[in-house]
Amino acid sequence: MSDDPRDYHAPANLLHDRIVLITGAGSGIGRTAALTFAEYGARTILLGRTQAKLEAVYDEILAAGWARPSISVMDFAAAQGDDYAQLAESMQQEFGRLDGLLHNAGILGERSPIEHYEVSKWLEVMHVNLNAPFVLTQTLLPLLQASDDASIVFTSSGVGRRGRAYWGAYAVSKYGIEGLSQVLADETSAQERIRVNCINPGATRTGMRRAAYPGEDPETLPPPESLMGPYLYLIGPDSRGVTGHSFDCQ
Ligand code: NDP
Repeated sequence: MSDDPRDYHAPANLLHDRIVLITGAGSGIGRTAALTFAEYGARTILLGRTQAKLEAVYDEILAAGWARPSISVMDFAAAQGDDYAQLAESMQQEFGRLDGLLHNAGILGERSPIEHYEVSKWLEVMHVNLNAPFVLTQTLLPLLQASDDASIVFTSSGVGRRGRAYWGAYAVSKYGIEGLSQVLADETSAQERIRVNCINPGATRTGMRRAAYPGEDPETLPPPESLMGPYLYLIGPDSRGVTGHSFDCQ
């Protein structure tokens, strides 16, 4: 088999009995990842800011006959320490561990030059895209450490590796995500049971892409379903021992 996660074909029961939390699970790539992880046997925790969207994904998972998910409504722009602590506490009570954490939620912010970037928008983007994944990871680390095989996956972007004009806080937050992932991977490198990686989905047919490129025909872009090989590889047990990397889906 090729070592390239883009060629990965998951066995049907890959995630059987694995507990996986997905942020931004109500729409876009996160929704598809949640449905896919459930299809491959995971017990999913659907986290997002819009309850109705999470409930729709919950209903789809139940209708397909997959394991019953949990829902956690949390707005990263407003969440406080107590909200994170409560989430960890309820997961501790219900599961006692966490096997997979997909940091997927994110916002685009403004497409404007640094010279004119609105400061409040900058702070919001950095908070949702970078600070929140840091706090969530730190809060859930004891649950991840209670797993025999835990995988943390952060979502990056092409502009998180090479800055481009008018991508402002979004690009800088994704550079931060790459840095957070590398620091944590290094800190946990002696713990074989935890791995930490980044994934860059590449241009994908979602609401965020539409907002960034309003003139583009969405039909020319791959849908989230076509990216799921690398997501399954990284969240599932086949990537054990792989840590500190940043992968491309396309
Ligand atoms: P979408 O905008 O379609 O989905 C983003 C998700 O994040 C939504 O579920 C949204 O919830 C959730 N979210 C946004 N803000 C918050 C918040 N404050 N608190 C909690 N949840 C929040 O984006 P994509 O699916 O396209 O993007 C998914 C990830 O992939 C992002 O990290 C993005 O940066 C990255 N990416 C995407 C690319 C693309 O071409 N699509 C390319 C490169 C990277 P709600 O639906 O309720 O608003």
